[in-house]
Amino acid sequence: MFRLSQFMREVLNPTPIKPTRKPAAPVVIWNLIRRCNLTCKHCYTTSADIDFPNELSTETIFEVMDDLKDFKVPVLILSGGEPLLHPDIFKISQRAKDKGFYVALSSNGTLITQDNIQQIADINYQYVGVSLDGIGATHDAFRQKKGSFDASIKGIQLCREHGIKAGIRYTLTQDNVQDFPAMLQLMDHENIDKFYLSHLNYGGRGNKNRKTDAFFTMTRDVMDTLFEQCLQWEKDGVPREIVTGNNDADAVYFLHWVAKNYPHRYEHIQAKLEQWGGNASGVNVANIDNLGHVHPDTFWWQHSLGSVKDRPFSEIWPDTSDDLMAGLKQSPRPLKGRCHSCDFQKICNGNTRVRAQQVYADAWAEDPGCYLTESEITV
Ligand code: SF4
Repeated sequence: MFRLSQFMREVLNPTPIKPTRKPAAPVVIWNLIRRCNLTCKHCYTTSADIDFPNELSTETIFEVMDDLKDFKVPVLILSGGEPLLHPDIFKISQRAKDKGFYVALSSNGTLITQDNIQQIADINYQYVGVSLDGIGATHDAFRQKKGSFDASIKGIQLCREHGIKAGIRYTLTQDNVQDFPAMLQLMDHENIDKFYLSHLNYGGRGNKNRKTDAFFTMTRDVMDTLFEQCLQWEKDGVPREIVTGNNDADAVYFLHWVAKNYPHRYEHIQAKLEQWGGNASGVNVANIDNLGHVHPDTFWWQHSLGSVKDRPFSEIWPDTSDDLMAGLKQSPRPLKGRCHSCDFQKICNGNTRVRAQQVYADAWAEDPGCYLTESEITV
């Protein structure tokens, strides 16, 4: 995850470069349940409004939670499906809070209502993220449910009214890009704390047409707008966080923006970005699915590292007998193609490996979703 606002602050008000502190354990995104009341077109869990068999029992969830705490996992992002459909979501959330985790809820927002907002507020989640795919009809079409946009907005408003930090997660596609400017306006209109732009795991057409590929051109335009919006909010002192995910090349693209607009900050931002270090799948990010399988991140559901039903997470995670985990944890990673020769590898860390796997059937091939031109990956 690329925390754009943080780096924009570094452009405007640089802070000293301190020694890097490696997190003791990863952030865990935990898909507690696969059931969902919506059937979104781009859902990575292909959820449905039915009960899925063999999901982790609440008792097992508690045992896993104890292991995660002992392993020093700092953050739990409780997700789904729709986590609010889990019959014990508040019991699980409360226990996670009591154990001292930073606890976030990742929801579609439609089930946050007057009936449960007090319970949600009582948990005192550090953050509630609501996924939105556009404004009004655009969102409803993606979610395949009329009225879901209004319901999600109501959910966000209820969170804000109850003092809960809330944000939007927006997955960019060619079918909703027209709503992107309005999404940024919505941030101001509803006074929303955080905007998470999630890139689709789009592989493009290999290494050709990076300049003309419509998807890449769209991505570049969106990133340009996002940088300008972020700068404006920072200059105006408006407390909004912008982060992006699933394309660590964003950080390199940002460095080029800095070179153009704040050339005197180039070296400082480069050093800060290198400290951050780019893609963290399999290192600082982990995923546990509804059945208990552990994955290097949420997009690797086809690759299980083992199940917490059989082995504790604390044993599964450091185990590098799995080739994918060994490669992800290697530094530098065993990258090939343009990612191997890229001069900004220290910043991006080879980006999203699952795209390479999908397009080239090789997890270490260059990331086909990198939208940077040859000159932008060469010093
Ligand atoms: S070429 Fe690879 S390592 Fe370089 S910016 Fe693009 S995705 Fe990242």
